[in-house]
Amino acid sequence: MAPSEVASCSLPYVDLMEVALKVDVDTHQGLREGVPRLAEMLAAKGISATFFVAMGPDNSGRAIWRIVRNRGFVSKMWRTKAVSMYGWRTILSGTLLPSRPIASAFPGLLRDLINAGFEVGVHGYDHVRWQDNLDHLGERGISHEIERGLEVYHTLLGVPAHSFAAPGWRTNGVALGILDSKGLAYRSDTRGRQPYRCLVDGQVMLTPEIPTTLPTLDELMGTNGLRTPGDILKFYLSHFSESWLNVHTIHAETEGMSQFETFRGLVDRLLDRGAHFLRLDEVARGLSLSALPVCRVARITVPGRAGWVSAQGLSPSQA
Ligand SMILES: [Zn+2]
Repeated sequence: MAPSEVASCSLPYVDLMEVALKVDVDTHQGLREGVPRLAEMLAAKGISATFFVAMGPDNSGRAIWRIVRNRGFVSKMWRTKAVSMYGWRTILSGTLLPSRPIASAFPGLLRDLINAGFEVGVHGYDHVRWQDNLDHLGERGISHEIERGLEVYHTLLGVPAHSFAAPGWRTNGVALGILDSKGLAYRSDTRGRQPYRCLVDGQVMLTPEIPTTLPTLDELMGTNGLRTPGDILKFYLSHFSESWLNVHTIHAETEGMSQFETFRGLVDRLLDRGAHFLRLDEVARGLSLSALPVCRVARITVPGRAGWVSAQGLSPSQA
């Protein structure tokens, strides 16, 4: 993260390692295979987590077109062994093969998660459409993605959604404004250091933003000389903090599948260090809106990820 872009808001003292696990579910296969495996492992260890599920079609195959036009994506596909991780069915989904539904293919699985004590939130509707085209969708297109995502959630689970996590950590002023009118308990759209309220066009959003504080495993794989599961574990264990809330995003398609053992190893080591795991809605309940810093939303690049992501920016007083 570019240091000049990052807020240096004062951090609350935690004195205990607190870890909120955010599990992003981007694909049909990730929900079918990765999610039950992760849920079973976490439940057996008494760990709670928040699952953010894409509510619409699995068009992840469209990402293959990015190979043609985005060199960063080519190297990422290669470095992270995307084909062996995702499989050809997922990679071709929505292009040569029809797209499969994600959330609506497995409503029972989502209900099982909630019954087992996990939180389930909305990870957009069409993940690929949002991530690739957000700035070109216009107000109508963005509104459609948000409304459809919230609607499908309500239909499948019988209760309104109370949380949203932007696909690919990409958001803009229009999306933030629409989401702010939905009365959500919180959003988790960005990268950053601590919970904050977004400042958009001079307006302070009402919904707290709880950003991801650590790099993802797929970003680390192959970068910074981190080549083995041992290297990755060492990196994470030196970056999880006891001084502030750690929000760690994992993927059903990565940690729930090919990197399952690496992730299990990390969880065990964090438990050894006395980490307390909590759901993001529990974090949100503990926030005092008036005490949260107000920060702009910046766009940054992070090592190991193609293109931009949204991040906690400067407070107006720092600008
Ligand atoms: Zn995602």
